[in-house]
Amino acid sequence: MIHRIEPVCQTPLWQQSLANAFSDVDAFFGFLRLDRELLPAARAAARLFGLKVPREFAELMVKGDPDDPLLRQVLPLGAESLPAAGFVEDPVGDLEKAIVPGVLHKYRGRLLLIANGSCAVNCRYCFRRHFPYQEAAVLRQRWQQAIDHISQAQEIDEIILSGGDPLTLSDAKLAALVARLEAIPHLRRLRVHTRLPVVIPSRLTTELSGWLAGGRLRPVLVLHINHARELSPELSRGLRRLGQAGVSLLNQSVLLKGVNDNAATLTELSLALFESGVLPYYLHLLDRVAGAAHFEVEAAEARRLQQALQANLPGYLVPRMVREVAGAASKQPVF
Ligand SMILES: *Cc1c(COP(=O)(O)O)cnc(C)c1O
Ligand code: SF4
Repeated sequence: MIHRIEPVCQTPLWQQSLANAFSDVDAFFGFLRLDRELLPAARAAARLFGLKVPREFAELMVKGDPDDPLLRQVLPLGAESLPAAGFVEDPVGDLEKAIVPGVLHKYRGRLLLIANGSCAVNCRYCFRRHFPYQEAAVLRQRWQQAIDHISQAQEIDEIILSGGDPLTLSDAKLAALVARLEAIPHLRRLRVHTRLPVVIPSRLTTELSGWLAGGRLRPVLVLHINHARELSPELSRGLRRLGQAGVSLLNQSVLLKGVNDNAATLTELSLALFESGVLPYYLHLLDRVAGAAHFEVEAAEARRLQQALQANLPGYLVPRMVREVAGAASKQPVF
């Protein structure tokens, strides 16, 4: 019997997952066996900000439960189109801050590069839901402009690759970018802000470990995990491998009503992060972006939660509760 030899698949698994993410509301409802009564509102909300959910992330959700905390983060709802006082399109004032397209230099010493505009998942509460991704992304031909700016700015010692999600770019492109950054002598740290491995754990490739941890710059990976159930065994394994390779692992969460707004959930998250070698860094209060008002946790409740975390956990597992204030010199501690 003759076996046909299949050509080796050139597209990494994670890129296939990215391409196959749910974007059709009906198909997503079918997969999760959600009540079709929510469907018309979901379709309407997805026309304003598209549905995007990788299958790996959908598989972590409890089928048939519209209140599942993972689902709540990505489920388009009718509530998104209700007007809410104080909720605006660009709550953190990022749009005026770009000095070079895709380069945000708001805080001393660190510079944020919007390496790519797109994400692997569309989080409904995202402050970039109205951000002009395409214009803001540093197109590869514009990287030179950003590199020139960084080379001139001696006080910058840390580069933050952000987005959108920088890990939507291929490892080859990221390795090439990092090689150019390494050649800038005053840079010391390389930080990556990402949610992609949370929704597609196979994104933590050996190539990624290579360009992140294999060079001169001290590597930091800041994840965005909001609930302990997002830490799947595969993600946890991938993170522990990166920790062993010398990457400092941190997490930022957003405090979200109906997702993680209780002390037990947040405590469990901190403990689960630590099991994977990740330290909690920030717990952000929601940016008041139009369409996300239904996620807001009241200040008094946020304070109560912070006190509960301080009482429940060792100090190093209590994230700093912060808010982004337009024009401020850093993220602002809330209390
Ligand atoms: C949040 C942010 C940073 C990083 O701030 P840290 O407090 O160092 O985590 C840097 N630049 C911009 C534009 C930011 O929004
Ligand atoms: S930038 Fe972060 S929070 Fe916003 S949609 Fe992308 S992954 Fe979600």
